[in-house]
Amino acid sequence: MLNIVIFGPPGSGKGTQSLKIAEKYNLIHISTGDIFREELANNTTLGQQARGYMDAGNLVPDELVIAMLESKVDKSLALEPAGFIFDGFPRTIMQAEALEKMLQRKNSFIKGVLALEVEDAELIKRIMGRGKDSGRADDVDEKIIKNRIKVYKSETAPVAGFYEMYGKLKIIRGKGSVEDIFKQLCESIDEYQQ
Ligand code: AMP
Repeated sequence: MLNIVIFGPPGSGKGTQSLKIAEKYNLIHISTGDIFREELANNTTLGQQARGYMDAGNLVPDELVIAMLESKVDKSLALEPAGFIFDGFPRTIMQAEALEKMLQRKNSFIKGVLALEVEDAELIKRIMGRGKDSGRADDVDEKIIKNRIKVYKSETAPVAGFYEMYGKLKIIRGKGSVEDIFKQLCESIDEYQQ
């Protein structure tokens, strides 16, 4: 299976690029943020548990995220996919370790991690722009956006080091046109497949 993680701060373009990658390589796109928003919209117990954290721009506790992800992967495996693209997960070292173990149990692994790098000022500008039509409460308030970036730096950025240690990290500059960045991402993915 071709399992890829797309990594980067909020607003770095992970969602846009993952959809394109999923389509091109026939992968199942798993965005934990999208799943939580869907749970929230359906007012499920999980959605209610996640709401406070999401509204404040904090991370949902690892146990909740990991259990949800595993159940989503299990359901998707029934479709015998070519692989997965994980978007917005893992966001902590604990999630990264859990993902490794979970894939190992399924005789699989992460082929590579593609990290998008974008400066803070650009991230804030992009998220505020997206907030105008996304309807996402956490995309509108500058204080919440700044907290999401702060949480990314303290809790999520170390995950890049985790994958670098295993020689799996590839850094790509997330500035430029969507197509340009997509091309660079595809070049890295094609290298995995050689
Ligand atoms: P996103 O759409 O990826 O920016 O995620 C939106 C929000 O969902 C985040 O600010 C977190 O509150 C929550 N969330 C999404 N993915 C995770 C994750 N892997 N771990 C913890 N919280 C998450």
